[in-house]
Amino acid sequence: MSSSSFNAFAMAQSQFDKIAEMLDLDQASRDLLRTPNREYHFNIPVRMDSGNMQIFRGFRVQHNDARGPGKGGVRFHPMETIDTVRALSMWMTWKTAAVDIPLGGSKGGIICDPHNLSLNEQEQLCRGWVRQIARNVGPVTDIPAPDVMTNAQHMLWMLDEFEVIFGGRYPGFITGKPVGVGGSLGRKEATGYGVIITLREMLKELDIRPMDTTASIQGFGNVAQHAIDLYHQLGGKTLCVSSWDQEDQTSYSFKKNDGIDLEELRSITNSFGGVDKAKAKELGYEILDGEDWLKQEVDILIPAALENQITRDNVALISEQVKIIAEGANGPTEPAADDEIKRRGIQMIPDLLANAGGVTCSYFEQVQNNMNYYWPRDEVLGKLDTKMTTSYIAVSELARQKNLYMRDAAYVIAIGRVVQASKDRGWI
Ligand code: GLU
Repeated sequence: MSSSSFNAFAMAQSQFDKIAEMLDLDQASRDLLRTPNREYHFNIPVRMDSGNMQIFRGFRVQHNDARGPGKGGVRFHPMETIDTVRALSMWMTWKTAAVDIPLGGSKGGIICDPHNLSLNEQEQLCRGWVRQIARNVGPVTDIPAPDVMTNAQHMLWMLDEFEVIFGGRYPGFITGKPVGVGGSLGRKEATGYGVIITLREMLKELDIRPMDTTASIQGFGNVAQHAIDLYHQLGGKTLCVSSWDQEDQTSYSFKKNDGIDLEELRSITNSFGGVDKAKAKELGYEILDGEDWLKQEVDILIPAALENQITRDNVALISEQVKIIAEGANGPTEPAADDEIKRRGIQMIPDLLANAGGVTCSYFEQVQNNMNYYWPRDEVLGKLDTKMTTSYIAVSELARQKNLYMRDAAYVIAIGRVVQASKDRGWI
């Protein structure tokens, strides 16, 4: 979990400031881009199953929409803060620009722990969030999607509420919907698959065969599970994953020296990615501390949980063997840890590139919604592969040419595109 003094927005701003300096951006560009265009904070009253009313706090932050409508997920998290949502909205602006899709950056959140909410209460929360924000979001202004602890069912409840309010069918209002109700085949897999597509490209450049590699992964939610799936299809072996234990309110790592079995582990995991510790033990998994995923002697680390996980305090735990870090999560590495990773010559595939597969597929979902014509899964995943590969190559080439850390190269490309669009519109 994030330490309490950590501020994701301060981190996102410092990442931006560094590149603004590098690009010698004018003051207006800095002022425009280091804070969100607008943000909404609101109360969401929910009648709980007990009959009592409970008030939840909700947010939507719209960082920048110069390149197209705002885009980004809605998170459910008990520790959600406005600063985290601000950071995540800024990271969405850079992400959509890094993969060059015609969308901007937004993010939303609700302070809640869905582990403790019935399905009915979750539905009321989703509908309540939309009721508060409906006039300020929409298919041509700002388009939500799933994120941490939200899924396709939550998206459909949100869509349904939006359609009740506006009296029509607007499938392009939200992405990550269930297939058959406007969702796209491949969307569920897209973020995790995207991580592995960029990893595949990096391994190619380093002349390493995926089947000769091992990985350790933080998290076992939607991103991690699909990343493991494609990584195993390429021949890689995952030695360790970590997962949040709701009962103990802490994380554990689960290790098997001859590699984890994805399906086996999935069969003892809840819908939030929580692995059943007792059952894992029975199946022969070693149960280690939450942070132990980071210490493993593997070639690849994939943080695929929350922000601020690789920090100045634990970066030294990374083994000598690690060659690549691919960021499935948003903001998992704090800048001080970046300095050390760079110094050690570990290759970094940064979040705004590595995990952009989800929003890329969300874009494809919207395109299909607009046409009202749906592509087969292979076509969606083929387009995803092309987009991720092209974006990876552009970042990697710039990094090589200018001798930049991969995160900085991705930022240079992304910020350059957003500055250009904002200038062209006459905003700066
Ligand atoms: N929540 C995902 C992300 O952080 C996907 C966003 C989207 O599809 O709009 O990139």
